[in-house]
Amino acid sequence: MRRRDMPEIRKDPVFGRWVIIASERGLRPNEFRAGGPDGAYTCPFCPGHENETPPSIYTLPAGDGGNWRLRVVLNKYPALAARGSDANVPDGMYDRMDGIGSHEVVIETPFHDRQFEEMSVREIADVFKTFILRVREMKKDPRIKYTMIFKNFGRNAGASLSHPHSQIIAMPIAPIRVAQEIDGAAAYMRRTGRCVFCDILRQEARHGKRVVGGNGDFLAVTPYASRFSFETWILPKKHESHFESMKPGSIRNLAVIVKSCMGKLRASMENFSYNLIVHTMPVQDPPAAHYHWHIEIMPKLSQAAGFEWGTGFYINTVSPEDAAKMMNAGKKYRS
Ligand SMILES: [Zn+2]
Ligand SMILES: [Zn+2]
Repeated sequence: MRRRDMPEIRKDPVFGRWVIIASERGLRPNEFRAGGPDGAYTCPFCPGHENETPPSIYTLPAGDGGNWRLRVVLNKYPALAARGSDANVPDGMYDRMDGIGSHEVVIETPFHDRQFEEMSVREIADVFKTFILRVREMKKDPRIKYTMIFKNFGRNAGASLSHPHSQIIAMPIAPIRVAQEIDGAAAYMRRTGRCVFCDILRQEARHGKRVVGGNGDFLAVTPYASRFSFETWILPKKHESHFESMKPGSIRNLAVIVKSCMGKLRASMENFSYNLIVHTMPVQDPPAAHYHWHIEIMPKLSQAAGFEWGTGFYINTVSPEDAAKMMNAGKKYRS
């Protein structure tokens, strides 16, 4: 075993944030660097190329034609891997630990060009059902403290392959952003006795100016302090801290609202790039009254620049009220 090939997690001694050092990930192919579909590049996620990915962990068979309609594989260039221990190792004044965990890729469809908003409600529901299934499996390992489910689409959002896919990273610590969000929600509850997200749902539903979708189980809003133009959150109406505890009966309505939000976002922007992130409670924690899982979709009209990195605050050139108005009217924003 060549030790240097294993990912490692290092702690920043000032901020307390953890950084994954995974040099093998630098080797991963990049469709955009390779010159796109016209270049010598072929897509490893397309049917017929199954042997170019690690073997399937989970497959949904296709009803007719083709062999599969969804596959889950280990990431060939993982940010974290199964080997090692979750113990902190002092390194002089620093701390580090083995980069244990797992990094899975959900290949959402056999169709290379079928984006989320073009998929059927059933296909999108399959993707979310698969997330839940994989998270429930991952959390059986007590070393796993957090599972990050996310999707990058488009160059500005850091995607290296355009074939529709999402990723699940299981990690041995809760990331600092997640911890800050949960701490902030806990502080709100200490102050008011209520869940901040339940309060957001109540106020947004009442005002309506930032609502971009809704059904029996979910509400979609452009959040009050949107960091990105057209930032969109999808919140379950009923309080629940853990994504993977979602009732099976709600998954269809989740797929319906995700599809509709994606369609509205696509119609509102040219060069639609985005990150979609499932925000949820650390998997080993009990159900919490102060935290409420939700999905954040962050369109990337531009890449974050020095100001954002230097200050941690954002400049957003489209107010969430205007974004909601354009999304609901089907108007295209021209930057
Ligand atoms: Zn493909
Ligand atoms: Zn709540």
